[in-house]
Amino acid sequence: IEKAAGNGARIARLAADHFTILIGDGSTTDQISALAERLLTAVHQPFQLSVGEVRVSGSIGIVLLQHDAKDVDEAHRNAGLAVRKAKRKGDRAVFFSSELHDEFQNHIRMERMLRLAIADREIEIHFQPQFDPSNNKLAGVEALARWTHPAEGPIPPSLFIPIAEAGGQIVDLGTLVLDLACEQAAKWRAAKFDFKHISVNVSPIQLWQPNFVAVVEETLKRHDLSGQEVCIEITEGVFVDQSEKRIETVLAAIRKLGVLLSLDDFGSGYSSLGYLNRLPFDQLKVDRSFVSDIDTDLRRQKVLRGILELGRGLGFNIVVEGAETSEEVAVIRDIGCDAIQGFFFSRPAPALLIPEVVKKISRSHPAAEARSA
Ligand code: C2E
Ligand code: MG
Ligand code: MG
Repeated sequence: IEKAAGNGARIARLAADHFTILIGDGSTTDQISALAERLLTAVHQPFQLSVGEVRVSGSIGIVLLQHDAKDVDEAHRNAGLAVRKAKRKGDRAVFFSSELHDEFQNHIRMERMLRLAIADREIEIHFQPQFDPSNNKLAGVEALARWTHPAEGPIPPSLFIPIAEAGGQIVDLGTLVLDLACEQAAKWRAAKFDFKHISVNVSPIQLWQPNFVAVVEETLKRHDLSGQEVCIEITEGVFVDQSEKRIETVLAAIRKLGVLLSLDDFGSGYSSLGYLNRLPFDQLKVDRSFVSDIDTDLRRQKVLRGILELGRGLGFNIVVEGAETSEEVAVIRDIGCDAIQGFFFSRPAPALLIPEVVKKISRSHPAAEARSA
């Protein structure tokens, strides 16, 4: 690193894996970028240890002293924001900019609001039904978190879930969602509405909590539900850089409670066919990206057909996500799967509306419609 940084540089170690490099002024931003590249290359050099070759990665945040900071504290803080951004992008160098500052302020604000919303149980869930395309019967419902801030209005999960994951609120949020979903399941059962099972999304961070299995078990017990009435959805990205052994143990314990396990967003990330063999999933949810425009895109049809054949061959229950048009539904129906979940049938909606939606869809005649299409 010293060699890469050059003679004029001063290097300080601030924490275990945290360094500051101060270089004299007069460098252009291009020169600084080139220096950052050299530093990252130096960091990436593998080490030979007795256990074998080890590689580390690095992230660099860059602050231009006169331009981005008026004192040491500000320089340090802004460099920290740039490093955070660099880390999120993975293994990069990022220059500080005032947008990063605004982004950070906004993030902090949202995090604070979210913490309050969870504590006040301001989070709700909506439900999206899944239908068996062969007869339009209900196959299950997915619980999706909804947050409406009194002043800011509705905030989508794509925004608040990552914030909750970064700040650790996801654990309380996930526990709350599971509780609300189970509460609704118990109500529906009491009202003799056959919802099949309620699917709940679980973040990898929840899976890593030592008490996760206990929380699930206890929530089922509190609402007097059996395991099969609940399905836990896990996004496939989860397994990539985690130790699979640990996940396997947690999933096996969940399954022992009778709870179904679903691999969400299948095909969207780093699909490893290995998971399908090694991890105890009951269900595959094929990602929406395979479905949009499937009626006009022949290549896409072939891909979906292949995925469905593979999944069925391996004995999974298969849900296709994100069908928006009757044409898409017709193609999926023709290829065949266990359930379709998408806007064509129903958008996520409050629990109260679900039985009515289900009744309406079950009454329609899919087979006739598909033949005439
Ligand atoms: P997901 O689990 O894959 O959920 C399906 C998402 O696709 C939902 O978005 C749903 O509204 C949307 N969707 C369903 N059908 C269609 C369609 O036909 N077209 C289009 N364009 N979209 C469709 P939503 O509710 O915004 O949730 C987004 C993601 O946020 C979820 O993806 C899930 O990963 C995450 N999420 C939601 N609630 C929770 C939660 O309680 N806990 C955790 N950890 N994640 C959650
Ligand atoms: Mg899901
Ligand atoms: Mg999904």
